[in-house]
Amino acid sequence: MITFLRLKCVNSCVLYRLLHILVLVYVWIPSVSAQTISTPAAFLGYTLGDQFTTHDRLIRYFEIVATQASDRCQLIPYGQTYEGRPLVVMVVASAENKKRLEEIRTNNLKITGVLDGTPQLNMPAIVWLSYNVHGNEAVSSEAVMEVLYQLLNPADADMQTWLKNTVVLLDPCLNPDGHERYVQWYKQVANQPYQPLPYAREHNEPWPGGRFNHYMFDLNRDWAWQTQQESQQRMVLYQQWMPHLHADFHEMEVQSPYYFAPSSKPYHQVLTPWQRQFQQYIGDANRKYFDKNYWLYYTRERFDLFYPSFGDTWPSFNGAIGMTYEQGGSGRAGLGIVRLEGDTLTLKQRMDHHVAASRASIEVVSTRAEQVVKEFKAYFDQARTSPKGTYKSYLIKTGGEPQRVRSLLNLLDRNGIQYGYVTSKQSASGFNYLNGKKESVAVEENDLVISAYQPKSVMLQALFEPNPTLEDSLTYDITSWAIPYAYGLQTYGLSERWADNQLSTKPKTKTAAQTAVIEKPYAYLATWKDIHDVAFLSTLLKAKVRVRNTEVPFEMNGKSYAPGTLLITRAANESLGDRFDKLVTEAAKKEGVTLMPVKTGFVDKGSDFGSDYVHFIKAPRIALLTGSSISPMGFGAVWHYFEQQIHYPVTVLDISQLGRTPLFHFDILILPSGSYSSLLTDRMTATLKDWIQAGGKVIAMEEAAETLGEKVDFEWKKKAPDKVTPKKIVSPTDTLKTYANRERDPIQQLVQGSIYRVTLDASHPLSFGYGDTYWALLQNGSTYELMKKGWNIGYLKTDAYVAGHVGGKYKKQLQNSAIFGAQEMGRGQVIYMAESPLFRAFWQNGKLLFSNALFMVGQVP
Ligand SMILES: [Zn+2]
Repeated sequence: MITFLRLKCVNSCVLYRLLHILVLVYVWIPSVSAQTISTPAAFLGYTLGDQFTTHDRLIRYFEIVATQASDRCQLIPYGQTYEGRPLVVMVVASAENKKRLEEIRTNNLKITGVLDGTPQLNMPAIVWLSYNVHGNEAVSSEAVMEVLYQLLNPADADMQTWLKNTVVLLDPCLNPDGHERYVQWYKQVANQPYQPLPYAREHNEPWPGGRFNHYMFDLNRDWAWQTQQESQQRMVLYQQWMPHLHADFHEMEVQSPYYFAPSSKPYHQVLTPWQRQFQQYIGDANRKYFDKNYWLYYTRERFDLFYPSFGDTWPSFNGAIGMTYEQGGSGRAGLGIVRLEGDTLTLKQRMDHHVAASRASIEVVSTRAEQVVKEFKAYFDQARTSPKGTYKSYLIKTGGEPQRVRSLLNLLDRNGIQYGYVTSKQSASGFNYLNGKKESVAVEENDLVISAYQPKSVMLQALFEPNPTLEDSLTYDITSWAIPYAYGLQTYGLSERWADNQLSTKPKTKTAAQTAVIEKPYAYLATWKDIHDVAFLSTLLKAKVRVRNTEVPFEMNGKSYAPGTLLITRAANESLGDRFDKLVTEAAKKEGVTLMPVKTGFVDKGSDFGSDYVHFIKAPRIALLTGSSISPMGFGAVWHYFEQQIHYPVTVLDISQLGRTPLFHFDILILPSGSYSSLLTDRMTATLKDWIQAGGKVIAMEEAAETLGEKVDFEWKKKAPDKVTPKKIVSPTDTLKTYANRERDPIQQLVQGSIYRVTLDASHPLSFGYGDTYWALLQNGSTYELMKKGWNIGYLKTDAYVAGHVGGKYKKQLQNSAIFGAQEMGRGQVIYMAESPLFRAFWQNGKLLFSNALFMVGQVP
């Protein structure tokens, strides 16, 4: 305004008119933009529910609205998918709250204790709504556009009232790659108008379906582990906000109506009375909408709160009210489908239900905002000052385990869990996870301590609890996951608090004098204990560096080296000339590997570097099978391992191409979990056998191993079910099944993600880096006989159970069964794996075992 007056004084007529127009425009634009928000229909050119919206148009709508309502919205890009699609969250607030968003966010972090400072309590509550984590449950991404519009529509008096004390964050699509896989397919095949008969092509999504992300991971099982790029990026933003309520929108099978909280049992023991009580409030808020509209729904069944890596449990273990919404439909329903009752379920109906549930979620928080914030604070106050749980600190022995510890720190960092390093030697006593006994332990400098007295105490407890209490075995995911077993680290649960002032935030590093420097070493040695070591080997092999490994332990300069230790000798790498040292040291630096340079190939004890017990690691040419009969997740876990974890080339072969592929191009063929009965014909099996005998190596996982074992000459045999003789049978009617128990009875035959101690043949290359024990997560329903001729490398003794739910009948069946085996066949071999060590990429301890199958087994001097 001041500038305007000055210019007027110079009496420049043209300038004056121009500025007059500019000022008018300046005043005019915001007043209109605050009012005129494009409806989804006006932007898209069709009414929501008439079509599926592609991800780029969804994002564009959010961008346009963010500009139109910039006084109440903030669009936050937080990353991108593996296929390069953007990930965004929209923050919606009243105009007053929008001006102080940063204050609201940081105040909330002060409430949790993640940020220092005294928080205010009279602040808005924070609601975070997540849509479309399973890509083919695509109605969510339609519903969220309507929710956004309603939030900003001044005529929506309820929404405007709720926004006065509530800030809402909308993630319109957690899994854009899966969403596009589904939506693009649907658009290509749908009839015009849509064909509601369920047999029509548009209701039968082809393999692998849009549920998964690019690497076929289920992102709704990845919240805690964060193995996927989408989860990693989202969780950074999530933890910058720490919402008070988080709702995750899904779809289930077509015949089901709608599900909302209260959740079904089992609830994890760490859930607070307030969180349990709020489940009821959610139910009440939703049924108001659903009853009014005469919509069917159910509560308290099927969807429980136990496994910690879901979109409802992870937020719950981080102080929020976490919940799942489920609409009947999913990738099956399309724009409309006839259900068994004869009615047609439309996309519009599905959308209306999710919109109503979104409104109910915002409303229920707004009407109790003050208490929601107060209880949120109480949750974190308790976490920091008097944490629940048996153990008040966890001690992790770090000696000799730098790489596994590094992997663990990644997980802790991603979950915002704080830790420290021991500064001086002392002794302690606690529960030793690895032998299940309470015992004393010598604590060394740089051992890791995680105190339960911290903001993320509940999540810490959920992740480290040795065997969480399962109040009802009817749960739909794994039942154990304790981190010390998943990471294979010697860990102690201590019942006392470890004083924070006796911990350092950083480990003490070795002084230069302690680090040996050898000019032009004879060889570099590196340990073989963790996936980072494998990535190091992968880098070397790709750079054509020749690497060896030792089959037997050896000692040198007073240090012991385990079987599997990598020997990178100057001999055999002469062709690299002066580049040799640089290649090796840079690769080690990149993967955080500590190299041990040595001056000689002569060892004090064991085999010298030129011995027959030292093997040359031939860089394998690897093929991985995929296709419509293969488990998408089984395949995806292996694919992700190669491309994102060890960065080693793999050729993915479709099953339809297997018969036409000259297998001599490859050294290894990986058969992931899946159905192989039609693929492994007699002819195909004979071809495979010829190739194996000529030196090929098959890695057969889960059902692939089972089917291969049914063929002649393959020794891996499934156990026959135990004949259980019920005691005291008086009458044949004593053993009849009960109809009401039809869902529970099968659990007797199941192992539901349980932890078992697998005994290893430590001398076999498949066991390198482990010694004689491997903690496995068992979740398949098959057990195998010990082999008579082949190598039984991993097997279960009678007392191998550690944690998790195993059906009574199945527990006995698991005793004395084989888990990992190898059968030599001519010059090649078959490696059988009853369980995938790469399951969901979170069982860190299994990755080396799979790597051994690739790089260690079958190498010759
Ligand atoms: Zn889902």
